[in-house]
Amino acid sequence: MKNSPETFFVRTYGCQMNELDTEIMVGQLEKRGLKRVYDEDTADLLMFNTCSIRDLAERKVMGKIGKIGVHRKRRSLIGVTGCMAMAKKDSLFKKLPHIDFVLGTNNITDLNTVLDEVIESGNQVIRTDSQFEENLDYLVAKRDDKVKAYVSIIRGCDKFCTYCVVPYTRGQEVSRPPEDIEEEVRRLAAEGYREITLLGQNVNSYGKDQPQWNCLFHDLLYRLDKIEGIDRVRFMTSHPIDITRELMVAIAELPSACEMVHFPIQAGSSRVLKKMHRIYTKELYLEKVAMLKEIVPNVALGTDIIVGFPTETEEEFQETIDVFKEIRYSLAFLFAYSARKGTPANRWKDDVPEEVKNERLHRLMAVYDEICSQDRQEMLGSEVEVLVERLNKQGQLKGRTRCWKNVIFDGDESMIGTMQNVKLHSFNHQTLVGSIHEPSQLLTAR
Ligand code: SF4
Repeated sequence: MKNSPETFFVRTYGCQMNELDTEIMVGQLEKRGLKRVYDEDTADLLMFNTCSIRDLAERKVMGKIGKIGVHRKRRSLIGVTGCMAMAKKDSLFKKLPHIDFVLGTNNITDLNTVLDEVIESGNQVIRTDSQFEENLDYLVAKRDDKVKAYVSIIRGCDKFCTYCVVPYTRGQEVSRPPEDIEEEVRRLAAEGYREITLLGQNVNSYGKDQPQWNCLFHDLLYRLDKIEGIDRVRFMTSHPIDITRELMVAIAELPSACEMVHFPIQAGSSRVLKKMHRIYTKELYLEKVAMLKEIVPNVALGTDIIVGFPTETEEEFQETIDVFKEIRYSLAFLFAYSARKGTPANRWKDDVPEEVKNERLHRLMAVYDEICSQDRQEMLGSEVEVLVERLNKQGQLKGRTRCWKNVIFDGDESMIGTMQNVKLHSFNHQTLVGSIHEPSQLLTAR
């Protein structure tokens, strides 16, 4: 038997999907009567919602939890949740004998049951089902942000890229019923949220596993656009193979759909893409981008890129640089390859030396920085619509454009949650600086 916790601390690692899972778990614990605290030393329950996508992310969290076992005088309950829980399962109890429970990504509904079991039995408890439980109560999510919110629309991934653990840690694709999504978005609108981001490992697959719903991803966007009060709808991530003309038309037509598509190419060489099992060639990818730019001329594109994938040559890496320069991505997450246990690529020789990977990464980052800086320079003097999110540390208002550009400007705190027309006059690295163009007018986007 263990003491029932009264307070909890939670730390989230990794992607937006993990952030949303944390919000749902926080909601469940608060419903149970626990109080969230932000100082881990005073919490009765510590939870680590982990990420497995990179080796470094795993090592960081293992080190962090390991230290707690050695140094912490106060005995708290400790739970490990998220992708690392799925990837490592009960081996975590061997490596971190002081933890009390391991909860996989498909079992977050079971958090309170697992906690009860730990308290009553005093034993370590694990739940890591390979299938997602469809009875997850998304509406319980407790969000800190009051302006924009994540909304899950599909979980899991069926693509099996050779370097990626997600299909093993999050299971196969399961779409969420459109009526449930509409209900959540209506509630968010009623609570004053102005922007939602639809989340899924591959949002473009939405609805394909449930043909009887007659609601593919572009249909869902049309349905959500009808909800009053939500001015901006974003989505991520899009697998290039699944983006359709219908989706592109929806982005062009719908006032709420933001003209920003995260469209990860991963590598610029068709041979490397084949080895990654990305199921498109560079040529097909570029065709899709051309079609997207024709249908949505002002679209901004984001990407993820892995450099130094096994067998990648210098010439093939140069193709990545060339594609990057051609597309001029406005948002990029760039990584040096690291092998992940349990993936097909882990069986191959990691034959690009670390110093070569790092050198390629720095070259690509330099290209990205230059493009960002040129784009921001070109934007100076223009007016952009900014959804005001919060005050920054300097007391200025901070928000984003429809294409995810950060903007800061002077204004009153009461403007948080409103749309403002901002004239840009300078920039500071990735952040644009401007001033309100029509101070007396609080613009609404629609
Ligand atoms: S599409 Fe590929 S990289 Fe993305 S989650 Fe699925 S397997 Fe991983």
